[in-house]
Amino acid sequence: MDAALLNRIKATLEKHSPEQIKYDCPKCEDRGYTFEIKDGYEVAVPCECLEKKQSIEKLALSNLTDVFKQKTIKTFTTNTEWQIEAKMKVLEYVNNFKETNASLILTGNPGGGKTHLGVGAMLELINNNVGCVYKEYISMLTNLKQVSMNEEEFIRELEKYINPRVLFLDDFLKGEVTSADRKYIYKVINTRYLKGKPMIISTEKSIKEILMFDEAVGSRIVEMTQNNIITFPRGLENNYRLRGVI
Ligand SMILES: [Zn+2]
Repeated sequence: MDAALLNRIKATLEKHSPEQIKYDCPKCEDRGYTFEIKDGYEVAVPCECLEKKQSIEKLALSNLTDVFKQKTIKTFTTNTEWQIEAKMKVLEYVNNFKETNASLILTGNPGGGKTHLGVGAMLELINNNVGCVYKEYISMLTNLKQVSMNEEEFIRELEKYINPRVLFLDDFLKGEVTSADRKYIYKVINTRYLKGKPMIISTEKSIKEILMFDEAVGSRIVEMTQNNIITFPRGLENNYRLRGVI
């Protein structure tokens, strides 16, 4: 068959073929990879849409509720100078993260917006395709305690706090700490420290109080922050939950 005829048949077939599938990314047809020939071999090359897709997956695995997903850095309201300063510091932390791999501590007064800014930092990191998982400190301890008698289950539970690229531990050192708790806390913090895995920590405790609680734990945390410590001022007037009430 001659080429011209072949092309005519092809064109006719295309005209009558079912409607073309719509892809989110026409370049890779939603495969996440394109295929190129390099040195005679066909290799898969990550498509530019892959990072976006991965970051959506990371958000799904983040353990953040829909309410928390609204707590972006942008939606953090700044009425006072220290709030502006805190917001700037979080932005700086996030922007430098890929070079510093640092941890972040948000310490101080309850109701100052520590969790909001911590989640905001997380969301921004996830947007930059850095995996982050949110965990409440109290439930971490409860969950570890519940499976402490079964080694296999305990390791599986422990991995939830060790494996994430970045772990947000909310309300660190809240309440009484038993000697068993102390062991778990050290295990999680020390393993992350040795693996170079950063944390975002919110806590009502001051840096001094954390160091007094346990110097080994405290000094590792402080070292990992590389000075990314945001202190919220004490005082009821800084508690936005009580604004208008007192
Ligand atoms: Zn693509």
